[in-house]
Amino acid sequence: MTTGENHIGNQRSAKGTKTYKTFNPLLNIENDQVFYEATSEEINQAVDLASDAFKVFSKKSPKEKAIFLRAITEEILAMGDDLIAMYQSETGLPEGRAKGERGRTIGQLISFADMLEDGNWVEATIDTADLDRAPIPKQDIRKMLIPLGPVVVFGASNFPFAYSTAGGDTASALAAGCPVICKSHPMHAGTSEMVSEAINRAAIKTGMPTGVFSNLNSSGIEVGVELVKHPGVKAVGFTGSIKGGRALYNIASERPEPIPVFAEMGSVNPVVLLPEAIQKRGEALAKTYAGSITLGTGQFCTNPGLLIGIKSDGFSTFIDTLSSEIIKISPSCMLHPNIIGNYERNKENALQQNGLLVTADYTDEVSTNYARQTIVTVEGATFLENTTLHQEVFGPFSMVVQCKDAHELETIIQQLEGQLTGTILAEQEELAKYSSIVDALQNRVGRIIFNGVPTGVEVCPAMLHGGPYPSSTDSRFTAVGLHAVKRWVRPFSFQSWPNSLLPDELKDENPLEILRLVNGNNTKSKI
Ligand code: NAP
Repeated sequence: MTTGENHIGNQRSAKGTKTYKTFNPLLNIENDQVFYEATSEEINQAVDLASDAFKVFSKKSPKEKAIFLRAITEEILAMGDDLIAMYQSETGLPEGRAKGERGRTIGQLISFADMLEDGNWVEATIDTADLDRAPIPKQDIRKMLIPLGPVVVFGASNFPFAYSTAGGDTASALAAGCPVICKSHPMHAGTSEMVSEAINRAAIKTGMPTGVFSNLNSSGIEVGVELVKHPGVKAVGFTGSIKGGRALYNIASERPEPIPVFAEMGSVNPVVLLPEAIQKRGEALAKTYAGSITLGTGQFCTNPGLLIGIKSDGFSTFIDTLSSEIIKISPSCMLHPNIIGNYERNKENALQQNGLLVTADYTDEVSTNYARQTIVTVEGATFLENTTLHQEVFGPFSMVVQCKDAHELETIIQQLEGQLTGTILAEQEELAKYSSIVDALQNRVGRIIFNGVPTGVEVCPAMLHGGPYPSSTDSRFTAVGLHAVKRWVRPFSFQSWPNSLLPDELKDENPLEILRLVNGNNTKSKI
């Protein structure tokens, strides 16, 4: 099913001599397939082809692009269990997760197809002319969102389907009218090659231009760096470490023509436990959180890595229950030896800091590449003094911070770096009583959750998956949900342009029957 070659548009290519293999973490062995890292020549070919494809693809009607997105879903599903087996062999994740993530990926593609058919997303805005206006006649001005150009998508290690080759970044960029060059994640190059094959088959079947999608292999940073520096690339989508995301952001900013890098990076997703809720429901909350911390072996960007409360008997019970419950959960496999290596190194680094007390540590023998879950506690003052303790440990590790009072809790929240999510576990009346804590948390996060868990990101238009830096590079945008499309477009105005030459979205007749803001009124009417 795979050849290890790159896809330059729908052509296969393997000109390079640098090769690598993916790894099966469950079996602790390398997979057989050899992958060929893309050369500079292949990178240039992919970008040049994408630039040419942009001229045609950006003019495709919303309906044509929707047909393309739906065809991708059919081709992915047609790969059936072979694709699921490839995913599992490169991640160690169970079949249920593979199928669930495939379903989410299909759902994302369909939701962008629906968005295109609905058509309203382009924010068409029309101010008609008033040539009799004195002293200066008013010109006809019409604005809508248009695509930026070729987008580079970095596959995410922890979501081989949903945030990789045909994932949310790719689906939203294609919906916007931008060709995509995927830099496949080296840990799941086979999965990426298969999904790329599905996208290219769909592109051929639906008459999309060659180069609307390419998939490049790499096992080091060079291919990604070259892509981000390439003048033909106009935007970048990334999910991964702060180190990687920031490096790419800096490269993009230093180009003669800077381009946006939408990087979704690390987060400790603070959870604030308010006293009354903890007193009343501490044990139940602790059981729920034992599950959330270990879900997917802690390999979710929304994993709750920091739990903060005010010292009390109820909070002590919460910590005891969380510690005893989490130990009952069987450890599971991490995605790759590098990821477990990072987990153990970062955990060890945290444990070396002064003032930490380990309250739960899974000590039984585990298979290679399985992660042991750990809970530690620390005093609020110690946490405030040592910013190393604020850093993410990617995996099933959480730190419980015990504050002396509400003021200390609020100070801690104020000093946290930007986060994807923040959660408040509280009785409803406590929200008013502790409003300054709630406000402080809202100021540091992209999504605030009341009495829930941060893991499990619903894909829907109201979802915001992003947040203040460094959880993302631009807190004004989301990586999940329909509004993710806004990362790949820019507003554009036509002035006094002939009606017949305007895009359908802006024509007087409103042939797409979309909702438009015409002279200040939302309407689907013709002009
Ligand atoms: P990563 O190390 O950030 O790598 C992600 C992608 O970016 C890879 O394709 C990598 O290329 C590339 N890359 C990394 N540094 C780069 C640089 N300086 N210049 C150009 N390209 C660069 O993330 P990962 O491999 O997915 O996982 C490693 C760690 O990232 C995890 O242990 C975890 O801490 C973190 N992570 C966080 C989240 C989150 O949502 N918070 C999600 C996933 C991972 P190569 O691999 O080819 O070098």
